[in-house]
Amino acid sequence: MTAALLGVSNALLSLALKPFGFVTLFVFAATFAVVYFLYHYTLQRFIYRKIKLIYKFIYQTKATKKEEIFYKHILPEKSIDEVSDDVERWANQRKQEIEVLQANEQFRKEFLMNLAHELRTPIFSVQGYVSTLLGGALEDETVNRKFLSNANKSIDRLVRLVDDLDEISKLESGKIPIIQEEFVIQDLVNDVFEEFSLMAKERNMTLSFKKGTVGNIWVYADKPKIKQVLVNLIQNAIKYGSDGGAVTVGCYVMDDKTIYVEVSDDGPGIAEEHLPRIFERFYRADRSRARTIGGTGLGLAIVKHIMEAHGQTVNVRSKVGVGSSFGFTLEKAEQ
Ligand code: ADP
Repeated sequence: MTAALLGVSNALLSLALKPFGFVTLFVFAATFAVVYFLYHYTLQRFIYRKIKLIYKFIYQTKATKKEEIFYKHILPEKSIDEVSDDVERWANQRKQEIEVLQANEQFRKEFLMNLAHELRTPIFSVQGYVSTLLGGALEDETVNRKFLSNANKSIDRLVRLVDDLDEISKLESGKIPIIQEEFVIQDLVNDVFEEFSLMAKERNMTLSFKKGTVGNIWVYADKPKIKQVLVNLIQNAIKYGSDGGAVTVGCYVMDDKTIYVEVSDDGPGIAEEHLPRIFERFYRADRSRARTIGGTGLGLAIVKHIMEAHGQTVNVRSKVGVGSSFGFTLEKAEQ
C-alpha cells in the first residue's frame, strides 16, 4: 500500500515535468518496486527474523516441515500482540516449571536435614552408652545391663527408621506393585486389633468397632498394604491417645463404588495449624512427645503413599481436647 501510494505521488509529481506517458508509468513502477522491496527486506530482516528467533528459542526444538511453513507463512501474519501473548504464555509456563523445581529442591534439602537429625539422635545415644560402658561402666553391675538395654533401644529405633525409609522409597519409586484382591475389611481390622491388644491393655485402652458398623464389607485392595495402613493408624491412636481412652474403627459404605474406613481416638487431638502438614515425612505435631514415644515420623507419610498408590484418598479430622480421626477410602468389591 505504501509502495503504491508513493508510486502514485511520484508519478503525479513527474507530470509537472512531462505530460502523461511512458515516463509517468516508469516513475510509478520504479518507485513502487524500490519502496516495496525496501520495506519487505526491512521487515524480513529486522522484525520477522527476530521474532522467528524468539519462537525458535521458546520451542527449543528444531523446526519440522510444518513449523517451517508456520515461520514462512503464518508467523508474518501474526500481529505483535499475538506474538506477545505467545511469549507471555511461554514465560508463565516456564515460571511454573521453575517454581516446581524450586519446591522440589527445598523439599530435598529439608528431607536431608530431617534425615540427618533423625539419625543423629539414636546414633549419639548408642555412642554415649558404648563409650560409658568401655570407660568402666561395664564392670558396674548396677548400670551395665541398663546401659546396654538403652543402647539396644536406640538401635531398634534406627532399624525401624531404616525399614520405614526403605518402604517409603520403594513406594515412591513404584517398585512395590499394588496387587489387589477381594477381602472383608472388618476381618483385617480384627487382625490388627489382636496384634495391638497387649499394647492397648498396657494403657488401659479399648479397641472396638464403631456402633453401626455392621455386616461384612468386601473391599478390593492390596491386603498387606491396607493392613500396614491400619497398623500405622491404630498404633498412632494408641501411642498418642490418652490412658484409659477408646480407639474405634468405623467402616461405611459411601456409594456402590466406595468404602470409607475411619480410625478415631479420644486423645489430646492435633492443633489445627499442624493438620495440613501432618502427612509430610518427619512432620510431628508435638515434637517432644513424639520423640519420647519413639516414632519415626514416617508412619503417616507411608499411609498417604499407600492410599495414593491405590488411587484413593486419606484425610484427618481433629480437635484439641476432643480427639483425632484418620479416614481413608477404598474400592468396594463387587460382591
Ligand atoms: P510418628 O512416627 O512420629 O508417630 P507419624 O507420621 O505416624 O509419625 O505421625 C506424625 C505425627 O502426627 C506424630 O508425631 C504426632 O504428632 C501426630 N499424630 C499422628 N497420629 C495422631 C493421633 N492419633 N493423635 C494425635 N497426634 C497424632
